[in-house]
Amino acid sequence: MVDPATGEAFDEAPDRRPDELDAVVGRAHAAWRGWRADPAARTAALLAAADAVEAAGDVLAPLLTREQGKPLTEAYAEVARTAARLRYFAALDHAPQPIADGRPVRSEVRWRSLGPVAAIVPWNFPLQLASAKFAPALAAGNTLVLKPSPHTPLATLRLASVLEAVLPEDVLTVVTGREPLGAGLASHPGIRHVTFTGSLPTGRAVAERAAASLARVTLELGGNDAAIVLDDVDVEAIADRLFWSAFRNCGQICMAVKRVYAPARLHSDVVEALAQRAKNTVVGPGLDPGTQLGPVSNADQLARIEHYTDRAVADGARAAAGGHRLDRPGYFFAPTILADVPADSPVVTEEQFGPVLPVLPYDTVEEAVEAANATGFGLGGSVWGTDLDRAEAVADRLECGTAWLNHHAELSLAQPFAGTKESGVGVAGGPWGLYGNLRPFVVHRPLEA
Ligand code: NAD
Repeated sequence: MVDPATGEAFDEAPDRRPDELDAVVGRAHAAWRGWRADPAARTAALLAAADAVEAAGDVLAPLLTREQGKPLTEAYAEVARTAARLRYFAALDHAPQPIADGRPVRSEVRWRSLGPVAAIVPWNFPLQLASAKFAPALAAGNTLVLKPSPHTPLATLRLASVLEAVLPEDVLTVVTGREPLGAGLASHPGIRHVTFTGSLPTGRAVAERAAASLARVTLELGGNDAAIVLDDVDVEAIADRLFWSAFRNCGQICMAVKRVYAPARLHSDVVEALAQRAKNTVVGPGLDPGTQLGPVSNADQLARIEHYTDRAVADGARAAAGGHRLDRPGYFFAPTILADVPADSPVVTEEQFGPVLPVLPYDTVEEAVEAANATGFGLGGSVWGTDLDRAEAVADRLECGTAWLNHHAELSLAQPFAGTKESGVGVAGGPWGLYGNLRPFVVHRPLEA
């Protein structure tokens, strides 16, 4: 594995092959019988798992920073979120639901687990996104086989060894390796639910693979979230929050702000406020105290960001801050604010997934809403202004799964998380995420024999 802060390899993970999956999935199937049978034991095990994750913070967080690049404080936050998610789902029940429709029968829905679940996750939040899969799947009584990204397998393997001590054998198995391991997992006939987080093209390939066995599919895909700034905004009051909504985790967040639309009259003020923050941000290795922005996670991603930025500049954009790699070892890219970007430049129309933010002017709110919605993605969006009623009326018109006012990407474990259009299929988060891992089983019984 390569440390993105140095560009140097520092460790390895097993490169497992698809023909090993029969044995892995077989063991997950065998473990399902015991795991689904006793809800009280399951809850106790998941609560113990949360405690174990929390207790392992000093091991997990530095390793996560080393392989992924994020500042250490954010790695600790990711570990904490993983533990919190285990606790949240351990406490959710899925009690039988009576069907009251006036008929003289007693009819109820009893929720049943599905069987072994396959989880495939990306490299931007290796632990947090894995827990978004395994916490609800295990709480529902399923077992799970988890495949992390080949860029970030180490903290996940360490997490698995922490959980081994508190979960029954084969309830959660981590398999690491390069493709076609994920493809093999998605198409394995023993898998009953494939839950995937990653890019749109891979999501499509995963859905095609899972179609062979008609396994349930949940896809959490990309985003190109717009932030619309309204003309009654106090630019200085929102600038910090808007900036970090785009740049946290180096912009490598599915629902980061990836485009800003500002009224023409305020456009240069917004560009200037964001550019000033970009220039003042402390960029450095995630393990250094004081670092606010780490390196980009891997060499491919750095090349991709550079490509989008160079293309935008060639299209006529001006870098009000950044616009280039940093001249030091590792995968560092200067936080970049782009002005004068043509609306059809790929940095605007596609998901660049990095520390680069185009700020585009608009004349009417109508035009801004239309531009915000003019993408295949539909993950999140936000509206920034002083009159919250007016801002909410604009937010209501965004075609996405979550819309914020004067915030972005603030998520609760209890809320549904679902993109629309090409941002996903199925719902994660809250009780909806639990039921995404269950099937209804209806028992219909007359009142008398
Ligand atoms: P990716 O699609 O390249 O990879 C995701 C995972 O799929 C990795 O584990 C990868 O090894 C695996 N994979 C690759 N090819 C596969 C195949 N043919 N079959 C099965 N699995 C395969 O995505 P990435 O570059 O790791 O992550 C970035 C993407 O993830 C961005 O598009 C981002 O928006 C998205 N993302 C979405 C969410 C969300 O919740 N909507 C959250 C985080 C990231």
